[in-house]
Formats: sequence, structure tokens, C-alpha cells
Amino acid sequence: MAQLSDDCFAFSGPLLSLEAMEKLIGERIVPVAESEQVPLRDSRSRVIAEDVTAPIDLPPFDNSAVDGYAVRYADLNPKGETTLQVVGRITAGARPDAALKPRQAIRIFTGAPMPTGADTVYMQEDVQAEGDQVTVPAGLMLGANRRLAGEDVAAGRVVLPAGTMLDAQHIALAAALGLTELTVRRRLKVAIFSTGDEVVEPGSPRGGAAIYDANRHLLCALLERLGAVVTDLGILADDSGELARALAEAAAQHDLVITSGGVSTGEADHVRSAVERIGSLVFWRVAIKPGRPVAMAVIRDSADRSAAFVGLPGNPVAVFVTFVRVVRPLLRRLAGARPQTLVPLPVRVTFAYKKKKNRREYLRVALRRGGDGEIEAVKHPQDGAGILTSLTETDGLLELSEDVTGIEPGARAGFLSYAALIG
Ligand code: AMP
Ligand code: MG
Repeated sequence: MAQLSDDCFAFSGPLLSLEAMEKLIGERIVPVAESEQVPLRDSRSRVIAEDVTAPIDLPPFDNSAVDGYAVRYADLNPKGETTLQVVGRITAGARPDAALKPRQAIRIFTGAPMPTGADTVYMQEDVQAEGDQVTVPAGLMLGANRRLAGEDVAAGRVVLPAGTMLDAQHIALAAALGLTELTVRRRLKVAIFSTGDEVVEPGSPRGGAAIYDANRHLLCALLERLGAVVTDLGILADDSGELARALAEAAAQHDLVITSGGVSTGEADHVRSAVERIGSLVFWRVAIKPGRPVAMAVIRDSADRSAAFVGLPGNPVAVFVTFVRVVRPLLRRLAGARPQTLVPLPVRVTFAYKKKKNRREYLRVALRRGGDGEIEAVKHPQDGAGILTSLTETDGLLELSEDVTGIEPGARAGFLSYAALIG
């Protein structure tokens, strides 16, 4: 399904930096080509296929930003009050029937078109109205409280460039421009599996040594937020042959196949050998913690139909971190979306922490306001990669870059909120 070649991740080093991985994704993954028209209602999380240009100005006409009186700036006494004659009233949706003549004002409401000749609007709170006269103070600037046609968007401007992943604000802009449909890339088809003899589906009987499957549910929710069509293919046993068969079958129908568990080098980790049977492993170690190992490959079925493959770790927190830092950029690229720049916000840390050089680390932290009013990051007391409550009881991830070897209380580090990471 996906447009990939065997060398799409060709990389010889043992441990790939996140930066190098992102670069490879940009260079070697080809976005899905097909596009379709969708109504605005169905366009959230879809990716714009071709630049959208504005068919009209926004706003479409000059209008008032407030309820008040529209005047001609040239009539105003710059040093004191000016009394003008009120010649009419214009509400939103109505059309002005005459131009404003010298020494005239018009009662106007928010969103109503500016009559010809009027260029400035006084707020009703700032004037004295009596009968058909209004007295306005000095000091207003030319054009105050007037919204100019095209001041938001000039007709012809590119408003939604190709590669925009649509969210509420983009859809609102398209609607304001009168568009009813958008041309978007087709949805990605993603298959997910869990692996492990110990993993059972919630609701089924659980033996003494079994655990319920958290990862498929985590992945489903994360993938659907990104607009993918998810096929949930269940739980696979730790059996390399069975895994290889299931993966090849999934490759025929999907752009991307994701598994969790079974990718480390332990004896019971069969995903790697299964992937090597039906495709080519490109790398399996990214310099990220939690999250090593994470495997990437191209897999194919017997008819040579191929898909991208990502093998995530088994521990749910590692699944979360590798999803947001590895799967998400890959998926966005495959979907035709522009790369996302995440800007970590500097926050003060309350704890000491040591780390190894040359890998990026993510700590789960909650935010609070310190005694001096500054925002502080507090590390979750449990940092095991299997501790799911360390995700539910925190606000986001603190990012410690490759060159950092440790932090001390009071130091600053970059914070990425869960909303930014998965939104
Ligand atoms: P593995 O990489 O397969 O050795 O798994 C690492 C850890 O993650 C083990 O403790 C597994 O039991 C656990 N694990 C694997 N898959 C899942 C899953 N789907 N849901 C929850 N925990 C899992
Ligand atoms: Mg396992």
C-alpha cells in the first residue's frame, strides 16, 4: 500500500538519533498520493492535498467592529467635541442606502456594512446622543473600530497550504470563506497488533500470569486522533511463524502496521525475527528513553505488496513515548502532512536527575505554581516504563536533550504538554 522502498530507512549506525530519524522520514517516505473531496463536517484531522486559496475577501466588506456611530473622520474637531446629525440606522445584515454627507453620522451596529463616506466608528459608550444629534469627543484615530474588507484574508491568498492537518480553526476559516468541501489526501490505513503470550483482552478470562492489553487501546485512541483508519487485529502469541503470517497479511491491506511488545533482544522476542522473514529491518534502536528498542521495517506479502512497519516496545509508557516521537512524525509524513515543530516550553524543575549522554530522555512531570509564582515541573514518583498512572497523573513530558547529563533542582528544562504531543 505505502510508497516505500527497501532502503527507505537505510541507516548503518547502531543507534539512530531522533534528529537523524526525522530527517530520514522526510527524505525517504513518500506520502500517499490519492486524494478525495470531503464536506467540511468530515474534514477534521484530514490533510489538505493542494493549496487552498481564498475565493473572496475576509471580511467581504468594510464593517463596524462595535455598536455605535459611524462618522467621517474629516468632520471631526481635532481639539474638542463635534456634534453631528444622525441620519439613519444600519444593523448587521442591512445595506446602507445612502452615502454619508459632511457633518452626518449614522447609528451602526457590530458587523453592519460601513456606509460610503464613513471611515471611523465611535463606540456608543463614548458619545452623547440627543434626538437626531450625536456629540463625539476628540481623540479617535482615523479608521478606529472599522474592519476593512480583506484585512483578515485578501482574495487569492493561500490560506490552507497543502500539508495542513485540519483542526477546528482551519475548518472555521474555510467556512468563513464560503467553502463547502475540501480536497484532502486519503486516510491512512493502519493495522495494530499486540504481542505476548501473557496479554489478554479486557473482558476475557485472565489467568494468574496474564495481564490485560493496554497497548492496543492506547494506540487506537492515539491513531484515531490523527485521522487514521485503524484495523484492530488483536493479540498475537509469541510465535515467530504466526507473527510473520499475520504481519504479511496485514501488509497487503494497510499503509502501516504497528505492533507492541516482543522487539527487544530477549529470547521470547519474536517480532524481530518475524519481520526479518517477510521484509527488511531498517533499524531497531533509536536513541530515546523510554523507548528502546523500536523497530522500523518494510514488510511485504507474497504478492509483494508492502507496508511500513513499526515495532514498539511492550511497556505502555514506552509505547506512548515512542508513538509521539517516532510513529507520529512517520504517520504525518505518510499522510502528506507538514512536519510538526514542537516547541518545548522552559519550566523550572524541582528535582535532581542523572542521565546518559547521547540519548534523548523524557520524564513524566506534573506542573504546579511555585511559591514565587513560577511554573515548576514535578517528576512523577514512579518512573518505570510500565507505570501507567505516571501518564494519567502528570501533565506532560520533560525533554532532556542528548548532550545533557543531568539536571539539578532550580534548573530549567523543556516541557511538552500531552495536549501538544497527541492533539
Ligand atoms: P516485551 O517487550 O514484549 O518484553 O514487553 C515488555 C513489558 O511490557 C512486559 O512486562 C509485557 O508484559 C508488557 N506488555 C507487553 N504488551 C503489553 C500490552 N499490550 N499491554 C500492557 N502491557 C504489555
Ligand atoms: Mg512480550
